[in-house]
Amino acid sequence: MIKFILYLIRWQLSTPIMAPVIAYFTHSDKIFGSPEDWFATSMANLVGGCIFFWVDRFIFKSKAIEQWEVIKSGKCYDCGQRGWVRRLVLAPSGYNRVKDPAPEYRCKKCSQKKLRQLKKRKEI
Ligand SMILES: [Zn+2]
Repeated sequence: MIKFILYLIRWQLSTPIMAPVIAYFTHSDKIFGSPEDWFATSMANLVGGCIFFWVDRFIFKSKAIEQWEVIKSGKCYDCGQRGWVRRLVLAPSGYNRVKDPAPEYRCKKCSQKKLRQLKKRKEI
């Protein structure tokens, strides 16, 4: 419940940016928007927050979607190349490396190779 309330507050933080923009595009008399513009924007953010809390939760926590962990400057486990590396954390098939004590990150090329191996072995 706390996360939901924080999420709604976060959505309201965009109101000071959106209300003047909406006022501009609706040719409002007031450059920063009327009280109605602010109220409407605030209500839109409330409705949007109530909807997208669940959408975001599905996207970021669902086991129906692959989850990857990315490091911008890491070292590839296979080839040793430094730079952008990633690892598969969760896959819809039940592949779960959330609590992997020794996570293995790979560069894009090695990651794709590893992914093909996992698919071949039907692990994902
Ligand atoms: Zn590599």
